[in-house]
Amino acid sequence: MGTIAAYYRLDYEVLTFHETEPVTARAVKQALDTRKDITHFAMVHCETTTGILNELEAISEVVKEYPVTFIVDAISSFGGIPMDIKACGIDFLISSANKCIQGVPGFGFIIASRQKLLQCKGNVRSLSLDIYDQWQAMEQGKGKWRFTSPTHVVRAFYQALLDLEAEGGVEARYKRYRQNNTILTEGMRRLGLDPLLPGEIQSPIITSFRYPADDFNFQAFYESLEQKGFVIYPGKISDAETFRIGNIGDVYPEDMERLLQAIRETLQ
Ligand SMILES: *Cc1c(COP(=O)(O)O)cnc(C)c1O
Repeated sequence: MGTIAAYYRLDYEVLTFHETEPVTARAVKQALDTRKDITHFAMVHCETTTGILNELEAISEVVKEYPVTFIVDAISSFGGIPMDIKACGIDFLISSANKCIQGVPGFGFIIASRQKLLQCKGNVRSLSLDIYDQWQAMEQGKGKWRFTSPTHVVRAFYQALLDLEAEGGVEARYKRYRQNNTILTEGMRRLGLDPLLPGEIQSPIITSFRYPADDFNFQAFYESLEQKGFVIYPGKISDAETFRIGNIGDVYPEDMERLLQAIRETLQ
């Protein structure tokens, strides 16, 4: 977010937390109290680099007290974690087709306050990212996209929404992700692989695990799992050796058990 703001030469300030610490409502309040010139506040809901789930509700209670536009990157949580956009006072919620909605990659979308969206008119510094103009084109053209439509992705997205509905909606999907995640972390612990984060801040989306030993060969581990049909992620944090496992998508408790079996065989 800081990099994006820098590219646009925006006057911005980054609130920095340790990689394994969530954003706190207290720090947000302090920042907004200190700098009265802040007009927008943006945060990530589910932090995919570590697996932290930030406390959206608690932070939104603070943000609502200030005259700032509230922007939330809910890319890896929307559709998989229940949230009340209106009650949280979110002005712009950003997500994409290919995370918890379980569509294919190809577009992002924004759920916006109409009043705030209207204020964006003529304010943009990018032609392709002009959401006001995109919205106008869609309103006037009965859903037409400004440039070439990503037709296959939109069709897949529609199917993904039908699938989400058939599963029982966001609540049901959240329960499945939680269950996947619980099976994964409990099974990993039994194999001697500890999650990086305490349970209270762990999201049900993706989990970082510490290397089981200093001489752990991640590349060999990765390749062995890949051969067994599972692809995991390297870690992304700087002060601990970790790797990550995602548990969203069309995967179920049985799949998590199969994954644990594959990991057990790999570690033997
Ligand atoms: C995946 C992700 C993004 C990037 O989304 P793309 O679909 O890859 O463009 C941004 N923020 C978070 C928190 C994510 O998980």
